[in-house]
Amino acid sequence: MEHAELTLRRQLIDTCGAFGPSGLSQGTSGNASARWQNGMLITPSAMDYARIRPSDIVWMGPDGSRTGHRAPSSEWRFHQRILAERPDAGAIVHVHSPAATALACLRLPIPAFHYLVAVAGGDNIRCAPYFLFGSDQLADAVIEALHGRSAALLANHGQVTVGASLDAALRLALDVESLADQYLRARTVGEPRRLTARQMREVLDRFDRYRNGTLDRVEDGPTPR
Ligand code: 13P
Ligand code: ZN
Repeated sequence: MEHAELTLRRQLIDTCGAFGPSGLSQGTSGNASARWQNGMLITPSAMDYARIRPSDIVWMGPDGSRTGHRAPSSEWRFHQRILAERPDAGAIVHVHSPAATALACLRLPIPAFHYLVAVAGGDNIRCAPYFLFGSDQLADAVIEALHGRSAALLANHGQVTVGASLDAALRLALDVESLADQYLRARTVGEPRRLTARQMREVLDRFDRYRNGTLDRVEDGPTPR
């Protein structure tokens, strides 16, 4: 196995290994995948995260072919569809984090109650309708809920995030969890005030400039003497 593949397998293990300590998932719930060659590397199904070794990670091709001695995550269908339909996706994280899952059980999307909702790419984080875990219907629903977004809640289930890398997808899952927690807390007192579409567009524009390093750049400042 080439060095880069082994490194990616280890990153998948580290990503899932972070689920428990960061409060993102319990037991064997959740999974992760990363684009590799013309397919993906994905975590094995129903395996204790502490026991996963690089050889337990499964490679799957776009036609469903696989190599490895373990069964791939039961959610391989939505991982595969996301990677096929989202060229921006290099990795996917799926967790049953408490606050995001609580909102998903209420089948509530996260609205623009806080400017950081824009971190998922738009002015809300949608909640996909409920379908059986591992089903084709769930994969369809996930694709739809992720349209123009890099995160979605899954009704009566959890959340899924997409990133250029595993680190980015994991960081976004933590952001979604904390937004869900803040939204739930605010809702215990009343209906949080929402930002307008225009205010969210301003945030999204500022995010773009923040990410590409042009925020507050001095374009034509005075020449120092
Ligand atoms: P796997 O262990 O098969 O990845 O399933 C966990 C899960 O979260 C299913 O939705
Ligand atoms: Zn799940």
